[in-house]
Amino acid sequence: MTPTDVKQKALKQRLKEEAAAIGIDKIGFASADPFVTMKERLTVQQQKGYASGFEKGSIAERTEPDLLLPEAKTILSIAVAYPSKLKDAPPSRKGSRRGVFCRASWGEDYHHVLRRKLEKLQAFIEAEIPGVRVRSMVDTGELSDRAAAIRSGIGWSGKNCAVITPEFGSYVYLGEMILDYAIEPDQPLESQCGTCNKCVDACPTGALIQGGQLDSSKCIAFLTQTKDMLPEQYRKKLGNRLYGCDTCQTVCPENKGMDHHHHEELEPEPEKVKPLLQSMLFLSNKEFKQTYGKMAGSWRGKKPIQRNAVLALGTLKEEAAVPDLQKVLLEDVRPVLRAAAAWSLGQIQTADAQHALHTASEKETDPMVEKEILEARMIGEE
Ligand code: SF4
Ligand code: SF4
Repeated sequence: MTPTDVKQKALKQRLKEEAAAIGIDKIGFASADPFVTMKERLTVQQQKGYASGFEKGSIAERTEPDLLLPEAKTILSIAVAYPSKLKDAPPSRKGSRRGVFCRASWGEDYHHVLRRKLEKLQAFIEAEIPGVRVRSMVDTGELSDRAAAIRSGIGWSGKNCAVITPEFGSYVYLGEMILDYAIEPDQPLESQCGTCNKCVDACPTGALIQGGQLDSSKCIAFLTQTKDMLPEQYRKKLGNRLYGCDTCQTVCPENKGMDHHHHEELEPEPEKVKPLLQSMLFLSNKEFKQTYGKMAGSWRGKKPIQRNAVLALGTLKEEAAVPDLQKVLLEDVRPVLRAAAAWSLGQIQTADAQHALHTASEKETDPMVEKEILEARMIGEE
C-alpha cells in the first residue's frame, strides 16, 4: 500500500465516522464517470412516455456528473433510514374513514432533513480537503439519487425500482454530493431479487415493468401528485391514498421487520399521516400550510390531496360524507374538485347522493364537470 493509499483510507474512515456522528445511517463512494447505461434507459423511457414529468434537468445532466461539477471525480452517496410502522395508528371506521400519506412523507420533509446533514458533511469535507469543490443534492437535484446510491454500494436495485439496502431495506432517503477529488470507490451490491416477483405482482396498476422499470404514467405514487381529474381507470385503485403509494415496498421480503426510528424529526404524527378524509375537504390554504406544510407530501399544494380525499370517500362508499360531497360539488370553485365529488356521489348511490347530482346538474356550467355528473347519474339508472 502506498502512502497515498494509506492517507486515502484514513480520510475515508474519518468521513464515515463524521457521517455517523451527523446522523447519516450509511455512506458510500463511487466514481463520477458518466452513467452510460442509465442514459440509454432514460432515453428509451422518455420515448415510450414512461417519464413522470417531475424530473429535473436534461438526460445529459442527470447522467453526466461533470456537467454539474467540472472535473467531478467522486460521488458520495448518503442514506438516512425512516420508520415503516405507525405507532398508535387511529382506526379508520365506517362514518369516519381515514386517508393515508406514504411513509416517505412521514415526519418533516426529508429534503430539509437531508440537506442539513449534507451541509454539515460538506463543511467537514471542505475542512479536511482544502480547495475541494463540492455540489450536494437531494432528490430534486439533477443527478439520479438511485443511480448514485447503487454505484456507491449503498444498496441494490429492486424490481420495484427502489434502492434496497441490506441494513434498512428500501425505507431510506437518499442524497449525494459530487466532489472534484478522487476517493477510492466502494463496490456495488448484487441484486437479491432472484425469482421473487412480489412487487410486480402486487402493483395495483401494472406500473412495474419486468426488468426493474417503472411506467410513471401508471404509478399511483405519481398519480396522487397530479392536479387534473384522475383518469377513470385509476380512481378506485387509489384506495384511501392521499399521497404516494407504498405497496411495492411493503410486499418486499427485504423490508420484513425493517422499522428504524433513528431520527426524531422523521417520526410520524398519527393524525397527520392518517387524517380523517372529511377533515381535508374544506381546509383553507392557511390551515393546510399550518397542518401539512412541513410534510414532503404537501409540495404540490392542497388540491391534489383534496381531490384524492374526495375520490377515496367515493371508493369507500362513505354514505356519511354525502352532505360534504354535495357541498364540494355545489360550492367548490375548482372544477377538478367538483368533478371528483360528482364521481364519488355516483359511487355512493344513495337517494341523497342522487339528489345532490340532480341539483348540481341544473347549475353546473363546466363541460368536464357536467360530463362527470351525467356519468355518475347514469350509474344509478343502470
Ligand atoms: S408505488 Fe404503487 S403504483 Fe407505483 S409501482 Fe409501486 S405499487 Fe405500483
Ligand atoms: S418484492 Fe421481490 S422482486 Fe420486488 S424488489 Fe423485493 S425482492 Fe425484489
